[in-house]
Amino acid sequence: SIPLGYFGGIGAGTRQGILFKGSVFLDLMTQLKTVVMDKTGTLTKGVFKVQQVMPIGITAKELVRLTAALESKSTHPVATAIIDHAQRGFADTGHETVSVEGVEEIAGHGLKGLVEGKDMLAGNAKLLRKFNVSFDEALTQIPYTIVMTAIDGQFAGYFTIADEVKPDAAEAVKRLKADGIRTVMLSGDKSAVVEAIAKQVGVDEWYGDLLPEDKVAQVERLKAELAGNPKRSVARAKLAFVGDGVNDAPVVALADVGMAMGGLGSDATIETADVIIQNDEPSKIAMAIDIGRATRRIVW
Ligand code: ADP
Ligand code: MG
Repeated sequence: SIPLGYFGGIGAGTRQGILFKGSVFLDLMTQLKTVVMDKTGTLTKGVFKVQQVMPIGITAKELVRLTAALESKSTHPVATAIIDHAQRGFADTGHETVSVEGVEEIAGHGLKGLVEGKDMLAGNAKLLRKFNVSFDEALTQIPYTIVMTAIDGQFAGYFTIADEVKPDAAEAVKRLKADGIRTVMLSGDKSAVVEAIAKQVGVDEWYGDLLPEDKVAQVERLKAELAGNPKRSVARAKLAFVGDGVNDAPVVALADVGMAMGGLGSDATIETADVIIQNDEPSKIAMAIDIGRATRRIVW
C-alpha cells in the first residue's frame, strides 16, 4: 500500500501549482544532483519583442511584411514577435493576405518557403549557411537573438529580438545551487545570448547553438557523468530536465525527472513530463524538491 505521506506530498504540490504524475517522482526529487534547464520559456519569459529592423536593399516595411508572411506559418516565439511587429503597423500592408506556399520549418534553424513567388528564408546563421547565403558574420557576436531574412538567395536584412529573464530565475538557480545541485542551461539560441542570460541567472554551466539532437546528447552526457562519479551513490544521483518547447519532449523523456512549464509548454512536452509547473515559475523546481523531502520525513 502507498503510505499516506505520498498523498500529502502530491496534495501539497497541487496546492502550490506543482503537479506530480506519481508518488515515485516525489521521491526522485530528493535524489537530484543535476538540474538541466531550457532557456526560452523556462528561465526567460519566452515572449520575444522586436527591437530593431535592419533592412538591406529593401524598405523596412517591405522586409517586415514579407518576413511576417513567412513566419505566420510558425508558432515559434520568435515568429510570434515578428507577426506582432507587423500587426502593430510596421508593415506595408497586411501580411495575412500575402500568398505563402511550401513552407518548411527546419528545427533549430528557422523557415524556408515561397512568398509571393519569392524564395524566402527567415532564421538564424545556421539556416543562411545551410543555403549558402552570405551575411556579415559579426552579427553572430551581438548578444541579441537575430532573425535573418534572405530573398531569392540574397541577404535582405535582419531583426534583433529580445526576451526577458523571469523575475524569479536568479533566485530559482540560487536555491538549487544551495542544495548542492549542478545547474545547467541548454538552448538552441545563439551562444552570445545564452552567455548573457547565463550570467544574469547564475547557472554553473551553459551551452548555446544546440540543435534538438544536441540537447539529447548533452543530457545523455550529464546523466553518464552522474552515474560515473564514484563519490556519489549511483542509485541516488538523478537528473531533472525542465523545458517547455515542442523540441524539448525528447529530453524531458530522457531525464530521470522530466519537468514542463504548464502555461507556456507545448502539448507534447506536458504529455511527456512527470512533473508540471502550472504557473511557469522556475522557483517551483526547488519547491518541488522541498515537498519531496518533507514527504520522505513523513513516510519514513
Ligand atoms: P530554443 O527553444 O532552445 O530557443 P529552438 O530549437 O526552438 O531552441 O530554436 C533555436 C533557434 O532557431 C532560435 O533561437 C531561432 O534563431 C531559430 N528559429 C527557430 N524557429 C524559427 C522561426 N520560426 N523563425 C526564425 N528563426 C527560428
Ligand atoms: Mg524551445
